[in-house]
Amino acid sequence: MIILKSPEETGKIKRAGRIVAEVLKELKEQVKLGVTTLDLDQMAEEGIRKRGGQPAFKGYRGFPATLCASINEEVVHGIPSKRALREGDIIGLDLGAIVDGYYGDAAITVPVGAVRPEVLRLIRITEESLYRGIDQMRVGNRLSDISHAVQSHVEAAGYSVVKDFVGHGIGQSLHEEPQLPNFGKPGQGPRLKDGMVLALEPMVNMGKDGVRLLSDRWTAVTEDGSFSAHFEHTVAITETGPVILTADHGSV
Ligand code: MG
Repeated sequence: MIILKSPEETGKIKRAGRIVAEVLKELKEQVKLGVTTLDLDQMAEEGIRKRGGQPAFKGYRGFPATLCASINEEVVHGIPSKRALREGDIIGLDLGAIVDGYYGDAAITVPVGAVRPEVLRLIRITEESLYRGIDQMRVGNRLSDISHAVQSHVEAAGYSVVKDFVGHGIGQSLHEEPQLPNFGKPGQGPRLKDGMVLALEPMVNMGKDGVRLLSDRWTAVTEDGSFSAHFEHTVAITETGPVILTADHGSV
């Protein structure tokens, strides 16, 4: 069942989402050579708590950290460690916060120092695909219209969307129905309604779409070793169009 949110509930998700957005912005500024993913995780947790939120991922199914930090061929769910960032790396930062019982969830991918132009293009296309999908989040459209918009943009650029992980409804749980794939034919699935809140999160591989899990049972990597990028927003569907709840509106 897809749980529709009242404007008040959406407001709570937006409060959580704003914290996520602000902390991601801070983390982005801290992504540089020599910084470890554990450093970033600590900043993430402090940033969320000082704004009155709680980390959403820490302890979720046993995940040990506040931040998912996924470097290069790591697709999602990388566990923060003492690994230091190096020139030419890219890092996916996926962050969730809880405020007043409601969740916000977003992700960005950030280059470290000078990165190959083709890798910057991967990042750009992935972010663009997120916005192509968001643009389909309109009352009366079907769920798979979102998925199709993401996949079309990614494949036109010569990349692959990951199929093993999907976006999701979000609210009083981190993952609610419906599942929101980043691929599919248009015109399928439930009709989008005012009050739906969805986390759309394209994961895009430079090479083939296959992924596998590392022995830590969290970190997903590309099977072919190609780089992967990830962007995510939590978005409310309203009569007047999509509203991004994890957008950064500057200082509170
Ligand atoms: Mg998510």
